[in-house]
Amino acid sequence: MPSNNMLDSEKISYWEQKTFFKNIDYLIIGAGIVGYSTALHLKESHPEAKIVIIERGFLPSGASSKNAGFACFGSATELFSDLQTSPEDEVWKTVSLRWKGLQYLRKIIGDSQLKLEINGSWDLITSKEENLFELVKEQLPYYNKKIKAITGEAETYTIDSNISSKFGFEHVKTSIFNRLEGQIDTASMNHAFYKKVIDKNIHVLFGIEAKTLNNNTITSSQGEISADKIAICTNGFGASLIQEDVKPARAQVLITRPIPNLKIKGTFHYNEGYYYFRNIDDRILFGGGRNLALEEETTTNIANTDLILESLKSILNEVILPKTDYTIDHNWAGIMGVGKSKQPIIKQLDANTFCGVRLGGMGVAIGTLVGKELANLIRSVQ
Ligand SMILES: Cc1cc2nc3c(=O)[nH]c(=O)nc-3n(C[C@H](O)[C@H](O)[C@H](O)COP(=O)(O)OP(=O)(O)OC[C@H]3O[C@@H](n4cnc5c(N)ncnc54)[C@H](O)[C@@H]3O)c2cc1C
Repeated sequence: MPSNNMLDSEKISYWEQKTFFKNIDYLIIGAGIVGYSTALHLKESHPEAKIVIIERGFLPSGASSKNAGFACFGSATELFSDLQTSPEDEVWKTVSLRWKGLQYLRKIIGDSQLKLEINGSWDLITSKEENLFELVKEQLPYYNKKIKAITGEAETYTIDSNISSKFGFEHVKTSIFNRLEGQIDTASMNHAFYKKVIDKNIHVLFGIEAKTLNNNTITSSQGEISADKIAICTNGFGASLIQEDVKPARAQVLITRPIPNLKIKGTFHYNEGYYYFRNIDDRILFGGGRNLALEEETTTNIANTDLILESLKSILNEVILPKTDYTIDHNWAGIMGVGKSKQPIIKQLDANTFCGVRLGGMGVAIGTLVGKELANLIRSVQ
C-alpha cells in the first residue's frame, strides 16, 4: 500500500489521517452518479477495501444533483437527428445503453427511492416544424420495431395531436408520444446513492478538489492524497486531470412556484429537444436554450445568463403556460460533459488511473451502468 503525504498536518488529527487518508485502496474523484456507482461496485467485490470519494463542492457540484430528472432513452426527433449525424449502429447502441441503464438504476436504487413515475414523454411539434414532423412520422414504424428489439415493448411512439387542448399549450400543432419514458426526483436519487455508499462504509469527503494527478497521487486543495487505484469521475470538469475528448456544457434551468390545478403531467421536449420541461411538485421545471450561445455555454462556470433565462421565460409565457398565472421561484445551472461522440469514455489512463466521463445529457440513464463498467475495468487490472 502506498503511504499518504496528505496533509496540512496540524489541521488533521492522527485519527482522521488513519481513517480517511492512509492506505486508500480506491480513491474516487467526484461524488456524482458515476463516482457513487463506481464505489458501490468496487465495494461489492472488495468488501474489505478502503474506498474514499472526494468531492470539490460542499454538496456534489456536478450534473447529478442539478439535472431535470428525465428517465429518457430517446425521443423520436432526437433519434431522427442522431441518425442524420451518427452511424446507425452507434445510435441504437446508445439507445440500448440508456434503456438498460435505466433498468439498472431502478434495480440499484429502487422505484420508490427514485420516485419514478412513467407518465410518458412528448416531442412537441410547432407549425414551423411540419416538414420535420412528416419525415419523422414516416420513420415511426421503423423506430417502433427497433425499440421493440431493445425493450420488448411494441408501439412505443405514437402521434398525439390533442396535446395542446389537453395541457393548454399554444403554438404546438401536434406531438409524438413516447409511452415508456418517465421522470424521477433527482434529489431523492442522489440521497439514496449517498446513503448506500455510507452504509457500505465508503468515505465521502466534501470540499476537497483534485488539482493534478501523478501516478498514484493527486495534489488536492488540501494536500497530497495517494491510493492504489484512482478513478476520475469528474465528467465535464476533467480538463486539469485528463486529456480526453470531453468538454463542459452548461445547462440552465428554472422552476415556477406551485401552480394550483396544474394539468401538465409528464416530460416534454420542445424545439427538437433544445428545450425540455416537466411537472414536479405542482410546478413546471424548464431548461434548455444552450443552442443560443453554444460557445459561451462551453464553460464550467456555474451561473445563469440573461440571454438564456429570457428565452426560457418567453417560451414559458407563450407556449407552455400561456393561459396560466404563475411566478418563477428559482433558477440554476449545471455542467454536463460532452464530446464529439455521444458515447461515454470508460478508460484506463495509466497503470493506476482510470476515468468514467462524458455522460452528455443522459447520465441519469447511463451513469449507474458506467460506474459498474468502470469498476469492472479497474478490477480487471488488479
Ligand atoms: C440541467 C441539467 C439537466 C439534465 N437533465 C438530464 C435528464 O433529464 N436526464 C439525464 O439522463 N441526464 C440529464 N442530465 C445529465 C446528467 O445529469 C449527467 O450526465 C450526469 O449527472 C453525470 O454524472 P457524473 O457522475 O458523470 O458527473 P457529475 O454529476 O457532474 O459528477 C462529477 C462530480 O465531480 C466533482 N468534481 C469535478 N472536478 C473535481 C475535482 N477536480 N476534484 C473533486 N471533485 C471534482 C463535481 O463537483 C461533481 O460533483 C442533465 C444535466 C444538467 C446539467
